[in-house]
Amino acid sequence: MTITYKLGNGLYVNMTNRCSNRCDFCIRNFGDHIGDSDGLWLDHEPTVDETADDIIKNAPDCTEIVFCGYGEPLMRLDDVVEVCKKVKPATGLPIRINTNGQSDLINGRPTARELAGLVDTVSISLNAPDALGYEQICHSDYGENAYAALLDFAADCKKYIPHVVLSVVDVMKPEDIEKCRTVAANVGVSFRVREMIE
Ligand code: SF4
Repeated sequence: MTITYKLGNGLYVNMTNRCSNRCDFCIRNFGDHIGDSDGLWLDHEPTVDETADDIIKNAPDCTEIVFCGYGEPLMRLDDVVEVCKKVKPATGLPIRINTNGQSDLINGRPTARELAGLVDTVSISLNAPDALGYEQICHSDYGENAYAALLDFAADCKKYIPHVVLSVVDVMKPEDIEKCRTVAANVGVSFRVREMIE
């Protein structure tokens, strides 16, 4: 079972296969791994201690820890926070969370502040310039409410986290990418066009 895997200089952490979205483009629809990783389908969700031990063992030649998963990491917000508390002082590495931004809906409370002092970067997949477009490709458990919640989470993260990014993949139509850039500017966070992972 693969709890951590390396991609570039990052150590990626796979704590859950659950997600509140069912994106049309999700890499999980097309395989079982990312890059050179072994299979990422989990036979059980690793405990806090299993995850922290795996990270600390594999972190030495990495420059960043990235909670990414083969699923939405903030489905396990409380456990992610506990893992961060263990691995941040043990490794001294910056921590990033790649998320769909629906943590407040998933956990039923405002959650950005719980990452303060532990997480250095939150990267949120924006995917579309509006709620309807988002729902048409991401199929959230929360329907069209997901998009506004995602933007509220991004704005809230800005208060507590040093780096907040809204990202899109480079396969979007150029005009939609520009609309998304405006959305990010209106929220007041960074914007990134990232390469689609095959
Ligand atoms: S949010 Fe990420 S993990 Fe979840 S379905 Fe979409 S691409 Fe897959």
